[in-house]
Amino acid sequence: MTASQDQPKTTTYDAIVVGAGHNGLTAAAYLARAGLSTLVLERRDIVGGCCTTEEIAPGCRVSTTSYIASMLRPEVISELRLADYGLRMIPCDPAIQVPFSDGHVVPWWADRERARQEFSKISIKDASRFVQVDHQLKKLARYLQPLFLEPPPEFDTSSVRGWTDLYRVGKRFRGISSAEIAQLISFLTGSLGEFLDHNYESDKIKTLFLANNVYGKHGGPYQPGSAIGLLFHLLSGGEHERQGFYGHVIGGMGSITQTIAAAGQKFGVEIRTSSPVARIEVRDGRARRVCLEDGTEFRGRMIFSNADPKRTFLRFIDANDLPNEFLAAVQAIKMDGPCAKVNLVLSEEPRFTGTSPAAAPLERTFYTLVPSLEFAERCYNTAKFGEIPEELWVDCVVSSNADDSLAPPGKHIMTCFVQYVPYRLRDGTWDQKRDLLGNRVVKKIAEYAPNVPAAIEARQVLTPLDLERTYGLTEGNIFHGDLRLDQLFFMRPVPGWSQYRTPIAGLYLCGAGAHPGGGVTGAPGRNAAHQALRDWKKGRLQNAA
Ligand SMILES: Cc1cc2nc3c(=O)[nH]c(=O)nc-3n(C[C@H](O)[C@H](O)[C@H](O)COP(=O)(O)OP(=O)(O)OC[C@H]3O[C@@H](n4cnc5c(N)ncnc54)[C@H](O)[C@@H]3O)c2cc1C
Repeated sequence: MTASQDQPKTTTYDAIVVGAGHNGLTAAAYLARAGLSTLVLERRDIVGGCCTTEEIAPGCRVSTTSYIASMLRPEVISELRLADYGLRMIPCDPAIQVPFSDGHVVPWWADRERARQEFSKISIKDASRFVQVDHQLKKLARYLQPLFLEPPPEFDTSSVRGWTDLYRVGKRFRGISSAEIAQLISFLTGSLGEFLDHNYESDKIKTLFLANNVYGKHGGPYQPGSAIGLLFHLLSGGEHERQGFYGHVIGGMGSITQTIAAAGQKFGVEIRTSSPVARIEVRDGRARRVCLEDGTEFRGRMIFSNADPKRTFLRFIDANDLPNEFLAAVQAIKMDGPCAKVNLVLSEEPRFTGTSPAAAPLERTFYTLVPSLEFAERCYNTAKFGEIPEELWVDCVVSSNADDSLAPPGKHIMTCFVQYVPYRLRDGTWDQKRDLLGNRVVKKIAEYAPNVPAAIEARQVLTPLDLERTYGLTEGNIFHGDLRLDQLFFMRPVPGWSQYRTPIAGLYLCGAGAHPGGGVTGAPGRNAAHQALRDWKKGRLQNAA
């Protein structure tokens, strides 16, 4: 054999996607649907990224990271026909529920009139204000909704394209009044805490509205910019496009990625797991090849990265292939994820004080343990200085109550999201503090559901460091970059590069680090694929890499 015959043949694909998170799989499915030969390379031995169902004890399956489907775009569900592949979600009802130390559990029912009646037991004034505010927020969210599924504008007023972009976005706000513009600006820049203090009198109602609106983000509820979560969570979701939808996914969140993968494979997507990518090779300013850690190489006419922007540009690409200002902007992206997750297998169902054992299973499923806005603010202040708060904010879902296929009879699954822990500890390491975190979470749960500690059969604690190591999230950031105003819209991932393209021709970003950001939405994946297909049709990328 000659030397050249020794070399394994390098296969060429029209599109290679690095990462099989839900966005990478979504992008791949749309690309293959358009007829492109498409390969997905995933470092883990399973697909899904932060949207998976994994077995943590024999026969016990849990949505290890993301756990509620509130923002998956209805367009992705219908265009990829995910229901045909078995995707099923049931609405969380109550959508949120907060138990208080006096034994009172306050549910937020999905139906507005039922919620109003519930709130009027606490404050008549707040109940009627809720109806007005809900109406106002839903109206404002409808202006933002279309922006989710299209690239943000590039503010280049020296080009026709720049003006066309501005016109496209401007059109979305047709009919908006100056009062609504003022309201939108105050939601984008104001604090959730001040908004709630201004609108409601009852601390319980305020706490209920706090729950879920700052998850994953930096900043306590009184930090400017924290009110934006109120609008994000009122974008429509679920297959029936309901505003403010929160869903339990049957089979766990992994069913979302399994069905997207199945839809993609039907269009011809090839998926290789256990294939960690080491680098993306660039020649003459164009992305050419993807090289695995084991030396295997694939040629791609277009290459997509589903990994976060820091991982993509600071690890996969040689710094010499990127402009200095771009590199500096990527290095400055705020990450250091402020969250953790604790997953439990229990030998009996948690019994929350204040919930009747006769309540329907869905009413015994979702509990947010945060007593007040002040508590949340203090919790963030502790975490931001590198300490693990003694008292934690924990969001619990007894997912086996929504879906009994997750555990054998008699066993229960409880998945717990922890808001506000530091990525960088002031003292010690996360390997030393993992158990301490797990113990504090269990202690917090025991205050509300005293039977839980004795019922624990298996416990998985995912610190920010574990989210980085296991799920490939730089600094454990669950959104591939903090969701704050200066890292959103035309500034995501960095100003000047919000339209999924990158300074390297043929390289696209298709994960949560791109517009519109994190959460299980499928939007960055779908948008990136459409943008690249527009470029593809112009023909420049079609010649062999
Ligand atoms: C603990 C936690 C709780 C959350 N809760 C919710 C929730 O309830 N609801 C919600 O909507 N969102 C939630 N989120 C956020 C949401 O899950 C993420 O923002 C979203 O899933 C990101 O999807 P993605 O496809 O863009 O990226 P990811 O899911 O991060 O996928 C990126 C993929 O790239 C792979 N990869 C990285 N490097 C390489 C490499 N070198 N080679 C090959 N592959 C590589 C990774 O392994 C991964 O599979 C949560 C996230 C976490 C971590």
